[in-house]
Amino acid sequence: MRKGWTTDLWRLALLLIAATLVGIAVGYPLVAILIAQMGFILWHFREQRRLEQWLQNPESHNVPEAEYGLWGEIFDLLYRWRQRSQRREQKLETLLSRFQQAASALPDAVVILRGDGAIEWANKSAQRLLGLNLTKDIGQPIANLVRQPEFVSYLRAREYSTPLQMLAPGRENLSLTVRIVPYGIGQKLLVARDVTRLKRLEDMRRDFVANISHEMRTPLTVITGYLESLADLEDTLSEESRKSVSQMQEQTARMQNLVTDLLFLSRIETGPRTSTWESVAVPAMLSAIREDAQALSGDEKHNITLDIDNSIWLRGNETELRSAFSNLIFNAVRYTPAGGDIEIKWWADDQGAHFSVSDSGIGIPIKHIPRLTERFYRVDTARSRERGGTGLGLAIVKHVLQRHDARLEIESAENRGSTFTCNFPTEMIVHQELKAESKVAT
Ligand code: ADP
Repeated sequence: MRKGWTTDLWRLALLLIAATLVGIAVGYPLVAILIAQMGFILWHFREQRRLEQWLQNPESHNVPEAEYGLWGEIFDLLYRWRQRSQRREQKLETLLSRFQQAASALPDAVVILRGDGAIEWANKSAQRLLGLNLTKDIGQPIANLVRQPEFVSYLRAREYSTPLQMLAPGRENLSLTVRIVPYGIGQKLLVARDVTRLKRLEDMRRDFVANISHEMRTPLTVITGYLESLADLEDTLSEESRKSVSQMQEQTARMQNLVTDLLFLSRIETGPRTSTWESVAVPAMLSAIREDAQALSGDEKHNITLDIDNSIWLRGNETELRSAFSNLIFNAVRYTPAGGDIEIKWWADDQGAHFSVSDSGIGIPIKHIPRLTERFYRVDTARSRERGGTGLGLAIVKHVLQRHDARLEIESAENRGSTFTCNFPTEMIVHQELKAESKVAT
């Protein structure tokens, strides 16, 4: 097949030859050639105009037709290119509509958000779970429609690694977990799942543990009372009975500690967070805990030092913070051999406030570290029991820190020691004006 441009060259050559012959015949060859050239240019001009008209509005016009030459080829290529892109568009449209059908059928709410937080698309479940109106609410900022404060601050925080637990808007009996996944340029995918059943089961488990712990309290108090009376009769008891009474006292004390920890844990898991917020004098609290830790250490004579900034207080709940800090400090005493070093630090920097306790104790093998904050997870159960641990200390620490928007960091090396650090956000710090020295090292 000949190329379009060679056809056009032949055509021009023939036209010029014909014009020359006709020009010679009529006596004006130059005029005839000029007219022929003008005609050729006008023809090109006409084809260009047709192309330009089509390009102005390619959707509503067919590609112009030309049978021969370069223009024929150009129009042919354009026609084929247009058909290909129409097929591609159709394929994409089918894919998109299939995806939308699948996403609409999902039981989870799916919402596509633009960079400014406005809704671009939402599926049917978003109507049921988030109360969105799929015709009216498209284009509206989602924070204007789902107005729970925890959702609005989650959306604004831009820290989406952990999902948000919340009640469905206007539906007290529907619990949701909301996840936001950023993608593209500033866009976000919001997925909300109905977890009502799971939440109910979790509540039942929590209530069961709380109730059973509560029920065990009275019998344990009665048994402890009787055991104390028995122990008072020491002189009248045989050696064997004395041993039995002492062992029973030890075990009931363990059970009482367990019940106290379980009740505390269930209270911080269920209780409202902000009702008891106050300014907490952390430096004084740490000094007092250090005294208790020294008492717990007793004859083991650990070397417990304090390095604290007295000007830093914290917004929070005093009882909960005391429990978290003392659990970490008492653990350091429990898991550090006699005479070992324990260092308690409290300071603030531009990242926030930090509490850390480092010990020169037995350390923790790295594989156990991710699971330490699970209830009853112990590296060495026998040792923990022998040292008076309940297995709930770090679970309590984790929950208290969560309620204070803080994070726990654990670093440890076997047989060399561990450092537990609690990192509190800057917003929780309360700065105190100090009259005397602000830094204390004991
Ligand atoms: P427990 O009451 O058994 O101490 P925790 O929840 O406080 O329970 O701690 C869980 C486990 O983590 C402990 O049983 C112990 O194995 C390990 N652990 C905690 N703190 C330390 C520490 N400072 N040094 C070494 N191991 C520790």
